[in-house]
Amino acid sequence: MCGIIGVSGHKNAAQIAFLGLYALQHRGEEAAGIATYDGKDIRLVKRRGLVADVFDDKAMAELQGNVAIGHCRYSTTGSSNHKNVQPFMVRHKRRPIAIAHNGNLTNTEQLYQKLEEDGSIFQTTMDSEIIVHLLAKSKLKDLKQTFVEVLQQLEGAYSLLFLVDELMVGARDPHGVRPLCLGKLDGNYILASESCSLDLLHAEYVREIEPGEIVFIHKGQMESIYLPGRETAKKAQCIFENIYFARPDSNIFDDNVYQVRKRLGRRLAQEAPVPADFVMAIPDSGNYAALGFAQELKMPLEVGVIRNHYVGRTFIQPTQFLRDFSVKVKLNPIRNVLKDKRVIVVDDSIVRGTTSRNRVEALRAAGAKEIHMRISCPPIVSPCFYGIDFPSKKELIASDHTVKEVADYIKVDSLAYLSLEGMLAEVKNREQFCTACFTGKYPINIPKTQSKYLLEGK
Ligand code: AMP
Repeated sequence: MCGIIGVSGHKNAAQIAFLGLYALQHRGEEAAGIATYDGKDIRLVKRRGLVADVFDDKAMAELQGNVAIGHCRYSTTGSSNHKNVQPFMVRHKRRPIAIAHNGNLTNTEQLYQKLEEDGSIFQTTMDSEIIVHLLAKSKLKDLKQTFVEVLQQLEGAYSLLFLVDELMVGARDPHGVRPLCLGKLDGNYILASESCSLDLLHAEYVREIEPGEIVFIHKGQMESIYLPGRETAKKAQCIFENIYFARPDSNIFDDNVYQVRKRLGRRLAQEAPVPADFVMAIPDSGNYAALGFAQELKMPLEVGVIRNHYVGRTFIQPTQFLRDFSVKVKLNPIRNVLKDKRVIVVDDSIVRGTTSRNRVEALRAAGAKEIHMRISCPPIVSPCFYGIDFPSKKELIASDHTVKEVADYIKVDSLAYLSLEGMLAEVKNREQFCTACFTGKYPINIPKTQSKYLLEGK
């Protein structure tokens, strides 16, 4: 998964992009980059690391220009190596083009093969590079029509930003899988994965970019065009953005993430109440559902574990010795709160089950007498091909284990997931969501071969 930000027409474009990326850090902690156009050429700074580490004074001094696009990356295609860091830049007919992509294409293999047969040489193993090759190959003279021609060839999920000289282009796939919103700051346009970026910048939230919409932004002017056939494309907004991925202070898919999560928790409490001394969350992922759960049942909400905020989602565990400490590095249970208590532990999801099992063990070691796990989404049974980094089906514990078997594996006294119907009842426009990870029903064609490393021959 990734976060993207674009700023057009502002004298501090790179600094705004930097701050905007800072608010999107949760969408990708592996690497970050910003590209600007300085009037003659595109300047690019990108490397592995957190946003705050990548953009030091030297980097910011390099990023001259009043238009910028930025990206933070969590790899879902291609490995996490330097070449695969975005924005990705090419030069075509002496014209520099930069791209930042959130989402996963599903016809990568076909497009890749065709481009290679036609002589393209690839620098990276990211599906995003394919898009710039298609742009370069187009014979059309009109730039807007070129974008239409290229994007029409893509299948899958994409929220995209481009810099073509001073022109900034934003686009969202016709299914609207990943979010992308439009904001305004001092009369200039901003595009961002999530609205929390705009809040940080004191920018005005204008609207979401519509599924199948392409926006061209240049010197304070914006023009929209739409991909043909978008009216009939089935909307497939990723429901997991609401459950786990997006920041709770963001508004995406016409709703507020915090409020959705709280409603999911309330619904879960209605569906699966259980006597206990208190409700607690696995922080931060379970915080808001736990709040809804406790409020619904008028039960006390306690903080039973403390999260170390300096540990990211991608804590490196290079040796077994370090791995053995990894649960406590991130979360430390409070013995005085938990000792001899019957607790309802709310989390957003169970993927492999291994983390949950370790956490339950730590809660028991801290003295919890009964542990009742409540999960604010249905069992995850199928992988995601559209950008969420779920493992293959065989690694998804719920794909071949019953709820009782999962409960036994993670060693809880009881386990309940929110029902599919209950989840859908709590989102706006329920028919517009992709729920493939819970149902195995994929709204967009899926790739014939599935591998994050498809273009690396692994
Ligand atoms: P596990 O018990 O190993 O399945 O881990 C469950 C925890 O991982 C929950 O707290 C989730 O919030 C978190 N999680 C959510 N999405 C993912 C993901 N795509 N990959 C790995 N872990 C995730």
